[in-house]
Amino acid sequence: MPTGTAGETPSGASGPWGQTPSGTAGETPSGTAGLTPPGASGPWGQTPSDTAGQDPAGAARPGPAGPGRQPWRAGDSFLSMWRELAPIGRHPGSGGYRRHAWTAADLDCRAWFRAQAEARGLAYETDRNGNQWAWLGDPLAGDAVVTGSHLDSVPDGGAFDGPLGVVSSFAALDELRRRGAEFTRPLAVTNFGDEEGARFGLACVGSRLAAGQLTVADAHRLRDGDGTTLPVAMEAAGYDPAAIGPDPERLARIGAFVELHVEQGRALDLTGDPVGIASAIWPHGRWRFDFRGEANHAGTTRLVDRRDPMLTYAETVLAARREAELTGALATFGKIAVEPNGVNAIPSLVRGWLDSRAADQATLDALVTGVERAAREYAERAGIDLDVVRESFTPVVEFEHALRDEIAKILERAGDRRGADVGRPGQPGRDTGRPVPVLGTGAGHDAGILSASVPTAMLFVRNPTGISHSPAEHAAEDDCTAGVEALADVLEGLACS
Ligand SMILES: [Zn+2]
Repeated sequence: MPTGTAGETPSGASGPWGQTPSGTAGETPSGTAGLTPPGASGPWGQTPSDTAGQDPAGAARPGPAGPGRQPWRAGDSFLSMWRELAPIGRHPGSGGYRRHAWTAADLDCRAWFRAQAEARGLAYETDRNGNQWAWLGDPLAGDAVVTGSHLDSVPDGGAFDGPLGVVSSFAALDELRRRGAEFTRPLAVTNFGDEEGARFGLACVGSRLAAGQLTVADAHRLRDGDGTTLPVAMEAAGYDPAAIGPDPERLARIGAFVELHVEQGRALDLTGDPVGIASAIWPHGRWRFDFRGEANHAGTTRLVDRRDPMLTYAETVLAARREAELTGALATFGKIAVEPNGVNAIPSLVRGWLDSRAADQATLDALVTGVERAAREYAERAGIDLDVVRESFTPVVEFEHALRDEIAKILERAGDRRGADVGRPGQPGRDTGRPVPVLGTGAGHDAGILSASVPTAMLFVRNPTGISHSPAEHAAEDDCTAGVEALADVLEGLACS
């Protein structure tokens, strides 16, 4: 486990999340002070102090509950874990995270996870696919409540996508112990391996393998940009690649999986809620468009004599935008490869990848069909050959309604309870006096993969800008605390008497 973080952020010297602006406590404004995007001084920056209720050692103690203050509870352990994890795999130049599967940064994250498990007296194990588990109670008893997310990142990713869920899971467990909760079901915190697929090009490898949605043969063929295969990378990291494969017995012991995740859009910011419940993951896929023309000299070939696939590609990009607007869905050409890729050469090949997502299958089909039809028309007119290949596809994931409704009720009850505690509807940090919003998302998650095998639900924490997969990704201090409290409420409702 990496050390040395304590010196970077002297505990007790300043409020690690910055101060709660006087008079605004209770309003949970998005973008609360203290949210410094990754920069020179660290992911959270150094901000003026207001350490009300925060014990420098990270232990919970009640703070003064006067006007403008709130007792600090669930955020304490969250914060100390967050600061410990923050420097791992963070690129000093970009400020983004490069925690790619089975690299040194990933192994440091895994060591951190193990240390957190052991520090809490949880039974630690890795499963056959390299996913990490920290158990409270008997792992073999069945009907377990499992929570967690992932610690790996996209290239130059943000701090929250993944780690927010893992850190919040340990913090929620701390909060439940603080509450003196008595567990009636086994509880586990997990870190699923290689969720982002940044290194080997396929997302959710750890959960896909466990759920039998990726064959061992296909997994063995995965290769990174340097030609290193997944088995070689796993072996180099000290894991046994011969063991990978479906894990139905393990999944059968899970009664509910709840993943907390930073929202990767602005739905919660628009509704003014710090926490939401996921309804579904939109169907989504990737299509490769190969436009083939004729390479030629950029300085000597007359315009009328050219067969330039770049023009057809460019028209197709515009068509994708138009179709997305017409259907109310999303279409993005975000990656391109050009041959021969010379400044002074008309391309012979332009290969573009379309990422498309929609709330339902019919809309997605209409969108992609519309883009392909337009591309074929443009290609025919310009004498360009076009091949379209669907490279991956994930159908819609509807999270289980019964679990979703139960979680909504648990959060509502907890909100009412807190409201009564403070003598007004809703407490700072989460409760707004309204039902917790239920929203869909266009992003894939391990929870989506596991939903085919176990009852699965997700909580989202507000992302005020909606920016994700970028160093600018962030969430407010109060919202992260609200997420921990909400997750603790959910776990208490599901796993405690
Ligand atoms: Zn994620």
